[in-house]
Amino acid sequence: MIHRIEPVCQTPLWQHALATAFTDVDEFVDYLHLDKNLLPAARQAAAQFGLKVPREFAELINKADPADPILRQVLPIGAESLLSEGFSADPVGDLKTAIVPGVLHKYQGRLLLIASGSCAIHCRYCFRRHFPYQETATYRDKWQQALAYIKDAKDIHEIILSGGDPLSLSDGRLSQLVTQLEVIPHLKRLRIHTRLPVVIPARLTAELVKWMTAGRLKKILVLHINHRKEITPELTRSLTGLHQGGVTLLNQSVLLKGVNDNLTALIELSEALFEANILPYYLHMLDRVQGSAHFEVADEEALRLENSLRNNLPGYLMPKWVREHAGMAAKQPAF
Ligand code: SF4
Repeated sequence: MIHRIEPVCQTPLWQHALATAFTDVDEFVDYLHLDKNLLPAARQAAAQFGLKVPREFAELINKADPADPILRQVLPIGAESLLSEGFSADPVGDLKTAIVPGVLHKYQGRLLLIASGSCAIHCRYCFRRHFPYQETATYRDKWQQALAYIKDAKDIHEIILSGGDPLSLSDGRLSQLVTQLEVIPHLKRLRIHTRLPVVIPARLTAELVKWMTAGRLKKILVLHINHRKEITPELTRSLTGLHQGGVTLLNQSVLLKGVNDNLTALIELSEALFEANILPYYLHMLDRVQGSAHFEVADEEALRLENSLRNNLPGYLMPKWVREHAGMAAKQPAF
């Protein structure tokens, strides 16, 4: 009798989803049945900052709808190529705060570790879209340098893993890094800023839940969700293990024109976050990065929205409206 041998797939589901993400503008426009006239400008913008959208996330986009709030976050468009006054390559002054490769010492008591320069998705408004990751990220061979800096900095109590997206690293590498952080006595908390589970919920593997819920450091996962459509049943389900394991789940959004700049969208977002056991933490005014001016909401309009939102939500569902200024020791109230 001949037994059929099934191929053994070693690649975790989330890595397969990463590898098969849309990166070709023509294919993406075709898949979404969008107007082909968008293509020349989209190709030009993607040459500066490539298109990247996991297929599962692309399924949330309404076909043939150029105004879809998910689509607007990911489709390269001609407006990105315009130079806008007051917009720059490094709007929050990250590069001036890089102490050793991959370590940004911006805030009192906290350190930012650029753990990876890679993301699962390319958000068109990203404030690090021009960031020179190759020069500054804490890659494998440079972790020791970053860890040595953290050991010496006794006034640091919290490490923030940022990127790129730190969860684009494998669980093996992350748990190795976290194990080394756990033994530094003056650290109390580990915070992870990520969008990856939002666009690929399978990223929240059993292995990840294991290292996130173990150890002495208090863990905080800060997700990045801008619209309620992004909170899928899959995402909610995949967060259960972390929620039950005591990980604090927070969200930060960016106020984006054509995505979430209306009262209904903001109320629905806060309500849906809470349903998924995530607390709204920050709502950022747009960081003025070159190529993103078309996402900016004017201050007067933003202030009007903030007041209306405050009048419509209980306090615990109201995110803090903040703005980052290069060189300042903390995010500032937006108004
Ligand atoms: S996931 Fe975050 S870091 Fe990556 S492109 Fe989007 S906003 Fe930027």
